[in-house]
This record gives sequence, C-alpha cells and structure tokens, in this order.
Amino acid sequence: MTETLTNRSLIELDRDHLIHPVASFRGHEAHGARVLASADGMWLTDIDGKRVIDAFAGLWCVNVGYGQESIVEAAADQMRRLPYATGYFHFASEPAIRLAAELTALTPEGLDHVFFTLGGSDAVDSAVRYIIHYFNAIGKPEKKEFIALEWGYHGSSSTGAGLTALGNFHRGFDLPYKWQHHIPSPYPYRHPQGDDDAAVIASTVAALEAKVAEIGADKVAAFCCEPIQGSGGVIVPPKGWLKALREACTRLGILMLVDEVITGFGRTGPLFACEEEGVTPDFMTTAKGLTSGYAPMGAMFMANHIYETIADASPLPVGHGMTYSGHPVSAAVALEVLRLYREGGVLANGVKTGARFAERMEAIRSHPLVGDVRYRGMLGAIELVTDKATKGMFPAELNLGDRLSQMTWDNGLIVRCFANAVIGFAPALTCTVEEMDIIFDRVQLTLDQLL
Ligand code: PLP
Repeated sequence: MTETLTNRSLIELDRDHLIHPVASFRGHEAHGARVLASADGMWLTDIDGKRVIDAFAGLWCVNVGYGQESIVEAAADQMRRLPYATGYFHFASEPAIRLAAELTALTPEGLDHVFFTLGGSDAVDSAVRYIIHYFNAIGKPEKKEFIALEWGYHGSSSTGAGLTALGNFHRGFDLPYKWQHHIPSPYPYRHPQGDDDAAVIASTVAALEAKVAEIGADKVAAFCCEPIQGSGGVIVPPKGWLKALREACTRLGILMLVDEVITGFGRTGPLFACEEEGVTPDFMTTAKGLTSGYAPMGAMFMANHIYETIADASPLPVGHGMTYSGHPVSAAVALEVLRLYREGGVLANGVKTGARFAERMEAIRSHPLVGDVRYRGMLGAIELVTDKATKGMFPAELNLGDRLSQMTWDNGLIVRCFANAVIGFAPALTCTVEEMDIIFDRVQLTLDQLL
C-alpha cells in the first residue's frame, strides 16, 4: 500500500483488519483506534496532532523515554552489520553474548545464566518449560503443579495466561489449567489486617503453606509471583514480603519464579526489586525495560544450581527455543539502554523524580474519591472508592475504567485505568519534576470532573 492514507482511512483500515490485544472486537470497532504518530521524551502525538503526556511509559516499558537517538544509532548500526543471527544450536552474535554477560553481572548473585525471548509472556512460558524439564531431569516427574497469586499477571502465552489470575485472560480460554493454583494476593488496602505489615506477610506465607499441604509438597513444582502486582492494579506488598516468600519456598522444597517484567530495570528504584530484598529466585523473568520498548526482547534468568543440574542430566538437546532468541538488533538496543540507565543517569533521575512522584501521590490522598494510594519508586496507583470509610467499590456497570481512560485522554494524559477504578502510573524514569507536576495537575483535574 503506497498511497498516503488519510486519518479517516487509517481508522477504517484498523477497524477492518487489525485485531487489538485485550479489546472486545465489536467494542473496538465502535470506539475506533487512537492512532499514535510520533513521540519525544514524555510526550506522544497522535495523527490529529493532539499531544498527550505519557505517564505510563507506553505499557510500563519505555523507561528511558521516547526519542533516545543513541538507541536508534545502536539499532541501525547493528542492522547494517548483522541484522539477524540465530541463537540456535551453537550459533551466537556478539551483542547477545555481551548482553548475557552484562546482565548476569547485574542480576542477583547466583543467576548467571540467561535465555532470551521476545517479551515477557514467552519468558514466563520458558521458565515453566524449564521447570518441568528440571523436575523430569532429577527424577521427580510428579512435581508439576504451579502456585501463583490472585490478581497476578504473567502474560498471554497459553501457560502464562493460566498462572495469570485476571478473569479477562481466562474467560473463554478454558483457563487456568488443572495444575495451576492461586492463593490470595498481599493486597494491604483490602486485607483485614492491612495496617499490620507482618500480618499481611504472614498471611501469604500461611496461604502458600496451606496450598502446598493441600496439593502435596511432592507434587508442587514452583511458586510464581510479581514483586509488585502490576496489571492486577499495582498491588504493593509490604517490604520484606518477597524475602519471606523466598524463605517459605526453600522450606517447602519448591522453586521460586519471580516475574520482574514490570519491576525490573529501575522501575521501583534499584535495578531489580529482588535486589532490594536480597532475594535470589530460582528463575527470574524480565522484558519491557530491558529494551525500553525500542525493540522486542525478554530475558529469563536461571539459577546456577538449576543450570548445572539440567546440564549434567540432559546430554541430548534441550528442545526449547525461538527463531528470534537473542536477536542481535534487540540485544544491541538492550546494551545501549543498559548504558543509559547507568552512565546516562536514567536510574538516578528516576530516583530523584520518584521523590516528587511520592509527594504528589501523598497530596492526592485527601481527594474525596481516593481510597488508597500505593507506590514504590516510579510505579504506583490510586484506587477510587464510592466512600472512603467503607472502601466501597464502584459498580462494574459504570465502566469507570473506560470512562476514566477517555477523560484522562481528553485532558492530555495517558495513565492506565483499570476496570476496578484503579489508576496506574509508570512514567519514564527520565520524567522531570516539572513533567511530574503536569501529570498530577491533569489527574487532579480529571478527579474533580468526576465528582
Ligand atoms: N509478566 C508480567 C509481570 C507482565 O506485566 C507482563 C506484561 O505486562 C508479562 C509478563 C507479559 O509480557 P509481554 O506482554 O511482553 O509478553
């Protein structure tokens, strides 16, 4: 198609041909696409020239902000030199090797092996496959049951979507599978002892112990969790929660898979949320901030003891891989993104602006519609309620998520509006203090319009 498309025809072609992720097909036909045309820094421009500030870093991924020329150069340079190299069998490319070495030097100690994927879903899917492979390799083939958290999100692969515990991802897909179990989430705002951190932590540990006892420890393979539950509505557990769960997994003789697809790469302050709690999981999955969304890539880290066991037990090829595992262009992009995080001051800026984020989050707590405010680093959410005292939830028929999404867009702002009246924030770590103020002035305006 070579002719110039008018804005109108773009929207018609989208409606007629493009299937959108996580959208009702008819609902999208009626709504029409918001077609984005360009971006710079924190700002997006659509095909009509409307400029909006992006407080969600695309989809919690563009941590370094839009328009980073050095990343464009790194990608173009790699495309010219070697646009593709398989990672299959015994082939590799320099960027993939360098990235593996740099990343494993930065991940928690004991995670010295990485498998590259195209994103987060297949990183989780890969971890599940390797966990199954591991237990077969050590002669414990009955250990195949997985436990995850309610409100958790682990992607859209056929296995990850079952570990996910959001109804949208199960409905009509015959999920979760029988071997996928869920326990209550550490959701302080809606926990009966939410003010008591120790009680919230203890309740997840107790729920995990009870579920393992119910299934049988000899049958449970792993516990899988996000350090902060993103797509479930940015549910922030108390500090110490992840460490307590790590200790519980070890005690119970099950593996721990920590899904850092959102929390990784500076989103919560340190490079990884595991780092803050001194946790080394058996598997760790990442994506999003790895390339800051400039190219698709995910990374699944495998603990040394798992790697050594599979290496010794499986002399035949381990049949897991994708054509684009360790894609050299994505790897070159990731290397430059990593450089920007550290030498480019992006992580440091995230910590600095994170302080302003916290101030503005605290200031909005007194708004009559705001029931809860929760955040860590540059990741957070506010939860709207009908009544602060009773924590009343808005009726689903109100479609408040959709309404808020339209209102914020009309006010020149992109945030993530969840169906349960939760507004999520994940601005680029390059956001300035002034831009943070613009974001929150627009949030305030939207909430006032809703009153
Ligand atoms: N895991 C978590 C925690 C996520 O938030 C996501 C995506 O939002 C995924 C996995 C899936 O990643 P992707 O969409 O790159 O497949």
